[in-house]
Amino acid sequence: MSHQSIIITIGDELLIGQTIDTNSAWIAQQLNHIGINVKRRIAVADERSAIVTALDESIPQAALILLTGGLGPTADDITKPLLSEYFDSRLVVNETVLQHVKQIFTKRNRPFLERNLKQAEVPESCKVLFNRLGTAPGMWFEKDGCIIISLPGVPFEMQTIMTEEALPRLKERLAGNHIIHKTLIVAGVGESFIADKIEDIETALPPHIHLAYLPTPGYVKLRLTTEGEDKAALQAEVDIRAELISQRLGNIVAAAEDLLPEEILARLMEEHRLSLSLAESCTGGYLANRITNIPGSSSFFKGSIVSYDNEVKETLLKVPKAILETVGAVSEETVTQMAEEVRSIMRTDIALSISGILGPGGGSAEKPVGTVWMAIAGKRRTVSRKCHFFYDRLRNKEQATNTALDMIRLFIQEELGL
Ligand code: ATP
Repeated sequence: MSHQSIIITIGDELLIGQTIDTNSAWIAQQLNHIGINVKRRIAVADERSAIVTALDESIPQAALILLTGGLGPTADDITKPLLSEYFDSRLVVNETVLQHVKQIFTKRNRPFLERNLKQAEVPESCKVLFNRLGTAPGMWFEKDGCIIISLPGVPFEMQTIMTEEALPRLKERLAGNHIIHKTLIVAGVGESFIADKIEDIETALPPHIHLAYLPTPGYVKLRLTTEGEDKAALQAEVDIRAELISQRLGNIVAAAEDLLPEEILARLMEEHRLSLSLAESCTGGYLANRITNIPGSSSFFKGSIVSYDNEVKETLLKVPKAILETVGAVSEETVTQMAEEVRSIMRTDIALSISGILGPGGGSAEKPVGTVWMAIAGKRRTVSRKCHFFYDRLRNKEQATNTALDMIRLFIQEELGL
């Protein structure tokens, strides 16, 4: 049976846009993994009536409610006394929590204040979910067949309590259903193009398999989702449809998993023991940053020369002054020289260079804002490509970076005949 859940996030900071609600996204992913559907997400102010109304509305509709936030020792943290009252309980000091809180204060060399004693209080009727990393414990209540779990707002504390305390129990209590997601990463084309190409496959999908298009600068995530009790059968069914789509779309499918372009590239580089260097102009080191976000990238990534200024292109990367003065820094000639030179300086199998006009200024009739040249130098050949992006500076940078990462993937696959 499919279990429905509701996430309620508490905090004024969420409603004024000061904090982005990442807790809900993380919780939803975890619940999906164990077959629990999230049917609603609600954000409410640190306000009694708002929290009570959200609970009153949600309890009859769901098997599980997850609350985050408002558990601290300050006056604006009202969740704990409110929940105690809501579940007709009273606050009592929990000895285990008290010892833990005191230990934390001793470790941090901070005085233990009267108000900190409150952090060890929990409603008598709840089951305490131990917070190894912080002072506010999680709390598990049950009412009218609904499980209500309250967790601190601090993301890493919330995540630890969920992982160590709540999810294992939820798995046991709400077992039986499985939610399967399968994502294809399709690079370099728009969603309408994809929809046209796979129209017949999409139309033939059975009603219990849903297809979603999630466009991102530079690539589209195609997600197939289904749910039910027979995990293996559902997985097989989704895999067959994903394979059909992959075959139809060909090499624009960069991965059959929900991976970032840099993760896809890292796997390919590591698998084939290749090395990479970069010469970046308009991305200003962002490409190198994205690659080095991947653990283990030092096994294939040597470095990047951020040649933002023409003088650096000329002196470090040996782009001839004549080229810079005639065809300019954003040109096939410049990026070709940049890629070949950095490949030779860093002695890598592959080198990518990038130079473009990201805007808002700097465009011309001949080279409008969004014009970006990229080149890849390999052992046997150098290829270059001119792209046009149509957004603002930062989105153009994002799209140029994703496009460059995928260009390296395609180059390697072509070179290796994959
Ligand atoms: P503490 O015990 O540390 O006071 P708390 O349960 O009282 O925790 P809050 O005071 O509501 O939690 O928030 C603590 C921190 O966690 C804040 O910096 C806030 O920005 C962040 N936070 C709260 N809710 C969320 C959320 N839904 N998503 C991401 N971050 C959040």
